[in-house]
Amino acid sequence: MSADTHSDSQEYDIIIVGAGPAGISTALHLAQIAPKLVSRTLILEKSRHPRHKLCGGGVLPDGEVILKQLGLDITEVPHYDVDWAHFDYDGQGMTMRVEKKGQFAFRTIRRHEFDAWLADKARTLGFLIQENTEVKRVAVDGSGVTLETDQGTYRARVVVGADGSNSVIRRAVVPHENTHVARLLEVVTEPKPEASSHIQADSYFDFIVVPQGIRGYVWDFPSIEKGKPVRVRGVYDSNVNDVKPDIALRDALSEEFRRHGLDLGQYKLEGHPIRWFDAKAAFSAPRLLLVGDAAGADALYGEGISLALGYGGFAARAIKAAFEREDFTFQDYKATLLHSEMGRALRRRTWFAKFFYGFRSARLQSLFWRRLGWAIEWVVRTFLIEWARRQEKQKV
Ligand SMILES: Cc1cc2nc3c(=O)[nH]c(=O)nc-3n(C[C@H](O)[C@H](O)[C@H](O)COP(=O)(O)OP(=O)(O)OC[C@H]3O[C@@H](n4cnc5c(N)ncnc54)[C@H](O)[C@@H]3O)c2cc1C
Repeated sequence: MSADTHSDSQEYDIIIVGAGPAGISTALHLAQIAPKLVSRTLILEKSRHPRHKLCGGGVLPDGEVILKQLGLDITEVPHYDVDWAHFDYDGQGMTMRVEKKGQFAFRTIRRHEFDAWLADKARTLGFLIQENTEVKRVAVDGSGVTLETDQGTYRARVVVGADGSNSVIRRAVVPHENTHVARLLEVVTEPKPEASSHIQADSYFDFIVVPQGIRGYVWDFPSIEKGKPVRVRGVYDSNVNDVKPDIALRDALSEEFRRHGLDLGQYKLEGHPIRWFDAKAAFSAPRLLLVGDAAGADALYGEGISLALGYGGFAARAIKAAFEREDFTFQDYKATLLHSEMGRALRRRTWFAKFFYGFRSARLQSLFWRRLGWAIEWVVRTFLIEWARRQEKQKV
């Protein structure tokens, strides 16, 4: 297309759509490996930081490894060091710290603070983040991508879809697809130690809902909100097969609240999907790359922050190579992702979700968590987490 055709649009080499962890990580990795591209990149964000993002805020050590590689220290953000993670069936099971020698299981942050902090880091490096700008339509042609937004038209040679589970960019990559989304409900409550059996410094994943056909768990994490301790609670349904649960998610969460002395009706309940990782799906198209939830998060637990941070490195390397070779087909992106430690962990998590949540028997779920915790811990450590550290070792 001629330059005239696009004379009304603002032109950049790279536009990243979405200033969540995946989009900002892509930018921060670009600054690290291809600093010349910083001034030629625009980040478009439909909200304005600090913006609300429904999330438990649990950041696994893999996420911290990626942040450290970017020279960032998560402890700059208000956070809670969760003492132990409990994996239970009906209140009994195993405990784990993700890092064996660690002093805590994992950390929790609140996303409006964490994401605003990350966005500030990108601004400090010279990135322009244009907020309050929602991408509505995407059109790809031979020389680039046109993005129509509620604030005007933009052109770029490459567009990164970091716009979350309901990604508009994904629809341009895969116009017709059977969606793979997990369903989640979340509530923030005050701590209620006098009524709950839960230790206040610990986090809990309880698989009590599996026999009811929910392919997931109910969770309860400690966190910090405006300097005060809170509990972030919710229910996760991976939705990895097409079986309708016997119980509505809301009712399952309501029962869990009753078990801990709370009335769900007293709190603000919010829901949001997570697109989970499917190795058969598309992750790019000529001039378009997907990262974070737009590409696919963890199906087993619905974990996505560390993965969003991880995706950013792959996208930045693909973009750098594309500009060096003047080849914007991104043909290798999917294979690179799938064969990486992160991609392997994601593939296994999808497989385990389909396998594990298939066991609806209460007796079996109880056996897994109460008797076979040692075996589960071995599987988790060996196959499902610590991908960032393994990736780091391979680079050395
Ligand atoms: C209830 C719930 C609990 C969760 N708990 C955890 C947890 O404890 N730990 C964990 O690791 N993960 C958790 N997750 C998953 C995690 O939140 C996501 O995986 C993570 O946010 C993905 O980051 P992202 O950058 O890909 O997308 P997002 O964080 O969704 O960011 C996308 C950004 O794009 C912007 N955007 C969207 N559309 C447009 C558009 N059209 N134009 C411009 N901008 C746009 C959005 O405003 C947003 O800022 C949870 C998710 C949910 C729903």
